[in-house]
Amino acid sequence: MTGLRVLSVASEIYPIVKTGGLADVTGALPRALAAEDVAVTSLVPGYAPVLRALVAPSTVLTIPDMFGGEARVIAGSAAGLDLFVLDAPHLYARSGNPYTGPDGLDWPDNALRFAALARAAAAIGRGALPGFMPEVVHAHDWQAALAPAYLHYGREPRPATVMTVHNLAFQGQFAPNLMATLGFPATAYAVDGLEYYGTIGYLKAGLQFADRITTVSPTYAVEITTKEAGMGLDGLLRARVRALSGILNGIDDRVWNPATDEYIAARYGTSRLPARAANTLALQARLGLRQDAAALVIGVISRFSWQKGLDLLLTALPHLLETGAQLAVLGAGDEALETGFADAAKAHAGRIGCYVGYDEPLAHLIQAGASALLVPSRFEPCGLTQLCALRYGAVPVVARVGGLADTVIDASEMALAARVGTGVQFAPPGQEMLEAALSRTAALHSDPTVWKRLQKSGMRTDVSWRRPARRYADLYRELAR
Ligand code: ADP
Repeated sequence: MTGLRVLSVASEIYPIVKTGGLADVTGALPRALAAEDVAVTSLVPGYAPVLRALVAPSTVLTIPDMFGGEARVIAGSAAGLDLFVLDAPHLYARSGNPYTGPDGLDWPDNALRFAALARAAAAIGRGALPGFMPEVVHAHDWQAALAPAYLHYGREPRPATVMTVHNLAFQGQFAPNLMATLGFPATAYAVDGLEYYGTIGYLKAGLQFADRITTVSPTYAVEITTKEAGMGLDGLLRARVRALSGILNGIDDRVWNPATDEYIAARYGTSRLPARAANTLALQARLGLRQDAAALVIGVISRFSWQKGLDLLLTALPHLLETGAQLAVLGAGDEALETGFADAAKAHAGRIGCYVGYDEPLAHLIQAGASALLVPSRFEPCGLTQLCALRYGAVPVVARVGGLADTVIDASEMALAARVGTGVQFAPPGQEMLEAALSRTAALHSDPTVWKRLQKSGMRTDVSWRRPARRYADLYRELAR
C-alpha cells in the first residue's frame, strides 16, 4: 500500500461544527481512512467555533482578495483531525448556524461564502501549499461542489476529484450574474458547465466535473438516477452513471458504544441486554412516560422535515396508541411538526413523550432505552440513526428507501428462520404501511425470544467505518493510478 493524500472539503465536521449527518461523516472518515494508509486533511470554513478549537495554528497561505476581503488558510488540528481552516472574517465571522443568520434565513452571500471554500480547495489541490500536494480532492455536498469546477477551468496540474452527495435535496442554486464575480469564464455558463435551470448550480457543477461521484448508499445511488427521486439532476446522473457509486456510511463506534456510553443510565453489550431496562426507565422518567420497563417504547430522533415522514407518524398516532406502545420523540425543525408532537404529548401524557430541540445526551438515551427506533422517511440517502439503533439494540423500524433499505434486514419469516433479521421495513412510505409496520413491530415485540434475537442480530451488524473506509480508499487508489 502506498500512502495517499486526500483533501476533504466540507462545510461541517463533527465534533466541531454540525447541523446534520454530513458532519458525522466528514468527522469520522479521516480516522477510519488512516487505518487504510490514507492521510486526510479537511478544509473547513473559519467559523468562530472552528477557529477557537484549533490547536497549534499556523498560517500557510494568504489570499489577498477572496470575494472582497483577505483570506488565510490556517493549518492546525482539532479533536484529532488535521485541518486547513479558511479564515475569512468577512464571510464566516458571524453568529447563527453555518448557513443561516439569527433570523433563520440563508445568509444573502452564501454563494460567495461557499465559492470561497471551493476556490481555496482548488488552489490547495493545485499545489498552493508547499509540501502538500493531494492526489485527490474530495468535495462533500453543494457547499464544496464548485471545487471540481474550479479545478476543471483552472490550470494544470490537477488532482483527481470525488464529489459525494449526502442529500440531493440541497443543491445550492444562485443568480447567473455571479459568474464573473466567482471567476468563471462566461462560456462556463452552459448546459455542460455550471448552468442549471437558469441558475448557477453548485451541486450540478460538482456532478458535471468530478472524476467520480459517490453517494451514501447503493440504493440511493440508483434512486437518484430516476425522475421520481432525481430532483432535477437525474438526467445528468444518468449520463454519468458509470462514474457513480454508493458507499454506505458508518458510525463512529467510539461515540456510539453502549458499553462505554457516558450519557446513558446503564452500560451494556449483547451479553448484558437486561441492563437496558434501566435505560428504558430513565428515558421514561426524562420524557414523562409511564414507568414500565417491559413496555414497547418506540423512539424517534430526527430533523422535523417533509423528508423524514414524521407527518405520517402524527396521523398514525391513534393506531400506535392502539398497539399499546409508548412513543419517545426527539427532534426539531418544521413548526407544524414541533407543535403536533408537543400537543400529542400533552393530550396523551404518559404514553407520548416529546422533547423539541437538539439534545445529544437524550439521543443516546433514546437509543439505549427505546425498544425500537422508527425512521419513516420518504427518502433517506443513508440515515445514521438506524445504524446507531442497530448498535444499541433498539430494533429499527424503517421505510424501505435509500440507505434504510440497505442497512436493515426485514424480519420476514424466512429472515427470522435464518436468524438474520434485524428490523422491520415497510414500503411505500405512507400512513397505511406505517401502521401495518407498527402492528408487526408490536407482534414481534410480544415474543421475547424473537425480539431478543432481532436485537442481538442488529448489535452484531458491523456498522463501523471499517468497511466503508476500505471502499473509499479503493476508490482513491483507483483514481490516483
Ligand atoms: P440528516 O443528516 O438527514 O438529519 P441522519 O440520520 O443522516 O439525518 O443524521 C442525523 C444525525 O443527527 C444523527 O447523528 C442523529 O442522532 C442526530 N440528530 C438529529 N436530530 C437530533 C436532535 N434533535 N438531537 C440530537 N441529535 C439529533
